[in-house]
Amino acid sequence: MMERRSIFTAIVLLSIIAPVTPAQAASKITIVNFDAVNEGFNDPAPRPPVGGNAGTTLGDQRLIAFQAAADKWGATIDSPVEIFIGAAFDPLTCTATSATLGQARTEAIFANFDDQKVGLAPGPVGLNLWHHSALADERAGADLDPLDVDLVAQFNSRLNGDPTCLGGTGWYLGLDGKAGSDIDLFTVLLHEFAHGLGFSQFASVNSGIRLLGLDDVYNVHIFDNTTHKFWSQMTDAERKASALNTRNVIFSGSTVNAAVPTVLAVGTPLLALLSPGTIAGNYQVGAAAFGPQLAAPGVSGAIVVATDPADAAGPSATDGCSAIVNAAAIAGRIALIDRGTCGFIVKVKNAQNAGAIAVLIGDNVAGTPPAGLGGADPTITIPSVRISLADANAIKAQLAAASVVTGTLGVNLAVRAGADATGGALLYTPNPVAPGSTISHWDTIAFPNQLMEPNINADLTHSVQPPQDMTLPALYDIGWFADKDLDGLADDRDACPTSNRAATVVVGGINTGVVNTMFTNGCTINDTVARIFAGAKNHGGFVSGVAHLLDSLVAQGTITDAEKDRIQSAAAHTK
Ligand SMILES: [Zn+2]
Repeated sequence: MMERRSIFTAIVLLSIIAPVTPAQAASKITIVNFDAVNEGFNDPAPRPPVGGNAGTTLGDQRLIAFQAAADKWGATIDSPVEIFIGAAFDPLTCTATSATLGQARTEAIFANFDDQKVGLAPGPVGLNLWHHSALADERAGADLDPLDVDLVAQFNSRLNGDPTCLGGTGWYLGLDGKAGSDIDLFTVLLHEFAHGLGFSQFASVNSGIRLLGLDDVYNVHIFDNTTHKFWSQMTDAERKASALNTRNVIFSGSTVNAAVPTVLAVGTPLLALLSPGTIAGNYQVGAAAFGPQLAAPGVSGAIVVATDPADAAGPSATDGCSAIVNAAAIAGRIALIDRGTCGFIVKVKNAQNAGAIAVLIGDNVAGTPPAGLGGADPTITIPSVRISLADANAIKAQLAAASVVTGTLGVNLAVRAGADATGGALLYTPNPVAPGSTISHWDTIAFPNQLMEPNINADLTHSVQPPQDMTLPALYDIGWFADKDLDGLADDRDACPTSNRAATVVVGGINTGVVNTMFTNGCTINDTVARIFAGAKNHGGFVSGVAHLLDSLVAQGTITDAEKDRIQSAAAHTK
């Protein structure tokens, strides 16, 4: 019996579905405008065309950007079933420093649905597995819930130059990725649509409890390197613990595993503490978006706490917000500075001016993994990273005990950035848990930056597949498949991946009216006749080859004798 579960019941969809004309008629993913008159996608405020977006009102430009991102996914994944995204722009939370950008998710999930046997649809990925709505439709070969959309998306309309919202930072509505200091809507849409298409799972990351006790197509690929178990093999308590097991949890799927060496760069950033022996070992870092990339063999030296005046620029003597006063001790060494008050660029520049060879920013809140350091300043010439509060305190405790602490800030060349030692792609498992982010993203250490990291990085390229990105490989691992002719049979198992799927058999321009049956190898009668034509030495050979085919089709009961005669006659008239 099919299970259907609505994920977010608070949104009433059925009464307000009003499909709009898609920007491209061929699109298989259609944006359904949920906005009311004069707001959101219908906002009439005039706007000049921008970055390939030809809309002339704010609403039109929003809709064009949505449809363009939907078309990008539509051109990348193949489903014979149209995908509907119900979407709205609404005023969501936004302050001077933080905002809800927007989100998309599957509207419903399905398990144990029928293989509808439309075309060659393969049916569910497995028994008792939740599937995202659009994925379930592709696998079923039919729309399992034609009265409802597949994804719902809600984005923040306040990111529109309002100075009280992120200081006036707004959505960049162009399609060319040239967002400058604004936020590239196209990139955020690619990310959020990917969640809705399948890059998300349904067990609670707070409790480990699965929805109605069932696994889903995503979480069966989550593998914990500590317990050596997949999430589908765990108890609720084990899943809960795994969600916090920072940089020890991977997505294991054959397509993602194969993509890791082509996508992720060799060398994962790390801090190796060399002495004293009590704290020697490898420590997690968050990489900086500015300054030189970490490299091998890295920068080695003694670690020294940088001190500066406790003044208006920064209230502590270890926040690095003012000029460093212990420059003699810092010069030629690795500076340790606390996070807080001023920006990372300010701290690192002050340490650089004091002669430091590298900077460790110790976090000021507990948790792992240490996030990256944002910012941009081409004058920064020394490497810097963030380390966790606990690790920073461990180093300070040694320094307070008059120990010399030495370390190397560099990369481990045996491990790719964003992978574990076995080459598995690391999932984001921060401690404390971050519902909405935990496990349904790649770890933030991935380099080059990935579309499905929890934060949107400015250097993303709009690519969703190798060699730049691992989103599409993950979707393939959960059950999506390439299917150019939309016959339900994956291209790599389809003897005719670009079938002629006309309704009837057409030979030499003559429509025979005979049903163009598709066979289980993915080829139609038209495909087979075309192959005979391509391989025939002359007209006689072609007619003879067709006769052999038709005899076997009659013998199988696929066509009647009368139909055979019509096709044979058409073949005889070809030249
Ligand atoms: Zn996300």
